[in-house]
Amino acid sequence: MSPPEDALRDAELAIQNERLTAITSIARTLFSALEPTLLVEVLLGGVRELLGGKATLYAPRPGGGYAVTGDLSRCDEQRCGDGFITLAGNSDVIVIDEHERRAAVKVAGSGRTTAFVLDVASETPYSSADIFAIGLLAQYFGVAVRNVELYQELAARRDAVVELNQVKNDLIAMMAHDFKGPLTAIVGFADVLAEDERFDADSREYLGIISSSAMRLAALATETLVLSRLEHNELSLALEEIDLAALVNDVVRVLGVTRAIDLRVSTGMPKMRGDAARLRQVIENLIGNAIKYSPGGEPVDVAVRAPEAGRVEIAVRDRGIGIPESERTKLFSRFARASNARALGIGGTGFGLYLARTIVDLHGGRISVDSSEGRGSTFRVVLPVQPPQRASATLRLVLLDSDGEARSYVAHALREDGYAVSVAANANDLVRLVGEAHFDAALVDVDRLGSQAEAIVRQLRERHVPVVRIGLHRSGETNGAEPSLAKPFLMKDLYAALDTAVSQASGSPG
Ligand code: ADP
Repeated sequence: MSPPEDALRDAELAIQNERLTAITSIARTLFSALEPTLLVEVLLGGVRELLGGKATLYAPRPGGGYAVTGDLSRCDEQRCGDGFITLAGNSDVIVIDEHERRAAVKVAGSGRTTAFVLDVASETPYSSADIFAIGLLAQYFGVAVRNVELYQELAARRDAVVELNQVKNDLIAMMAHDFKGPLTAIVGFADVLAEDERFDADSREYLGIISSSAMRLAALATETLVLSRLEHNELSLALEEIDLAALVNDVVRVLGVTRAIDLRVSTGMPKMRGDAARLRQVIENLIGNAIKYSPGGEPVDVAVRAPEAGRVEIAVRDRGIGIPESERTKLFSRFARASNARALGIGGTGFGLYLARTIVDLHGGRISVDSSEGRGSTFRVVLPVQPPQRASATLRLVLLDSDGEARSYVAHALREDGYAVSVAANANDLVRLVGEAHFDAALVDVDRLGSQAEAIVRQLRERHVPVVRIGLHRSGETNGAEPSLAKPFLMKDLYAALDTAVSQASGSPG
């Protein structure tokens, strides 16, 4: 080839190269556009940019023929495509009208869209490179249309699944919540009967079993509620000042009945702010697991210390089955269980550690595990003394009930429903607590207080703390204006009484 021909060829190659780069860039934008209007805009803009002509996209009309579309829908506009468009729609190749300088091409659709037609009108005659470019863009556009359709289908399915999940969660939350009312009554009645001298020792023991089984059911209902709140992102903390060492000690005392647990608490532990009920769940789960996953009965060590200023740590060490290394991190996900635990047939749901991690996260802390398979594991929770300000504002209640079992259940149920509850076992406790902190309401078991009851209620009234009286009998008019509840009661009646007490107090001057 002579030099001028070489130069011409180079120039042509450069133009072709530039055009291919432009087409690739348009294709990339087409593939990332997941919205129909945007997709059409990208196509038409791209054709204009590439060929300088006027581009139009046609969609088939329901009654036959074609109409201009800007969003892939089979619109029913008046401006129908002419015979040229219909011809292109019926053809498998690009149709060209040399005279009008138009080129039209069918864009193969998928199941939902039959075939679009892309019409390009140019001011200059088409070169073969132009025709090639139009054909390529039409093909890319067809793929992009199918992408958009698939994406829309997926989105619709996802919405349906999300909606179904929401219905399921609502149902679970409703059931779990509604369980609590009858369970309070069962626990309450069983406790009342267990103290009745007319029953012999055996019957009273059976009543104790009824009561503790109902408590277990209540715990299950609570766990279910927590799960559903987690899924709704609704789990929030009721923060109060807590003594972590005392909390751990309390759990160790209960679980220590079944296994030797060595508890070590460093001296000078700082007080911390946290949600006592939730942290108790974490500690119970970790120590419970240490016992469960050391089936040989090996002892468990628990240590509480302050590793650095502003932080506290609980470490639970066992000498049990351990956890295979590759499975350690996944155990904090929902329903995850290690293969060795399954192989050994040790029962579990894989929910506890997930819940523990969520609760620790909400407190701004960290949970981790060290383990050696076959030799044991150490779970460690580090918490800041002052958690981040994320917890919701809660009503603070003080509960006076010297009946241990019922007190713990009512306090538990109230905490589950988001109240911050302090419990007092006797009149002195109550007076001390009310002197130390502000409470939005007090729940007072008047029967147990006997002659002291009226004096205590009076003191609370003077401190502007609304009171709900709880007793074996409805108090009637002799006991003043406070709402009263007869034991055993349903939680919903307790909430109604609380509402009345709080609104009476805020309605009265001073
Ligand atoms: P569950 O014990 O009900 O299965 P968790 O969420 O508390 O649920 O624990 C998840 C999994 O982590 C367990 O199934 C078990 O495989 C493993 N695991 C937890 N704690 C220990 C432990 N102390 N020793 C060995 N494996 C453990």
